[in-house]
Amino acid sequence: MSKTTTFLAFLLALNLGALSMEASLSPVAAQAEDAQTGKLEQIIPGHFVYSSGARLSGIIVTSQGVVVVDSLSSEAMAKHERQLIAAAAQQPIRYLISSTFHGNYSLGNVAYPDAIKIGHELYKADLLDMMKMDNMPAAQQAAMLPDQTFRDRMSIFLGGKEIQILYAGRAHTRGDSIVFVPQDRIVYMSEVFFDGRFPFMNSGYVNWINAIDIALKLDADIFVPGQGPSPIASNPRGSRDALVRARQVLVDFRDGVQKEIAKGSTEEQAVANVLLPQYKDMVGYGQQRALLVRKMYQDLKTGLPF
Ligand SMILES: [Zn+2]
Repeated sequence: MSKTTTFLAFLLALNLGALSMEASLSPVAAQAEDAQTGKLEQIIPGHFVYSSGARLSGIIVTSQGVVVVDSLSSEAMAKHERQLIAAAAQQPIRYLISSTFHGNYSLGNVAYPDAIKIGHELYKADLLDMMKMDNMPAAQQAAMLPDQTFRDRMSIFLGGKEIQILYAGRAHTRGDSIVFVPQDRIVYMSEVFFDGRFPFMNSGYVNWINAIDIALKLDADIFVPGQGPSPIASNPRGSRDALVRARQVLVDFRDGVQKEIAKGSTEEQAVANVLLPQYKDMVGYGQQRALLVRKMYQDLKTGLPF
């Protein structure tokens, strides 16, 4: 291994370590957190959201079966979501679309042995890395992995509806999917949309802004977040404005970091200077701001390809 390769491997290990912090959950903590507190709410007819704490999973119900977006934190939580779906929909779950490989969005995959699992090809790669790092048993790994991957986009046709699964580039992770149902003008954003919550960028990219722009250009009125708690069920029509506000947080930080780079600041100076106190009351600001500034500084400085 050359010195550069070794250094890159080291950086990768650091990055995966950071991923794992959000990704891994001790099973005991996850079970305790579950406690079947999640709830299922209708957004518009045929579209539902299951929420447990800050996490949201999308549910598309058609006359030929159900599509779930993100399995959430654990087998127990996913089973609870499935119980509520069964009571509300009386339809089999046909597909599970996974957007973020982070444990709090994917550990529930094991509760969907009967569904076809779909994820972006980089979702699959990052999920595999995370499972190996966590020394997950082979059978559990097999039960978590997607059955189908895609690179740019794919469509499912179910109950007379086209369900588009789109790659919008690097965002909250490098393998996020967004799910668009044109007929109902609704988009499931997963963790590409933090509704009223400070964005977590531990495995994210400054290109997240472009991914949101791609979503906002879709012919849609409703944008379902993956992170909240969100008023999406009570105010679905307010979700476009909420997504625009979430985008603005990223834009303001990017502009702040760009200004620091333009005046020759180091990463540490950028962290000290880009405070944007107008966002300090958002949940996650204290914990995540410095990390977001660092990630943006590194992306903008190195001109990471989008
Ligand atoms: Zn995440």
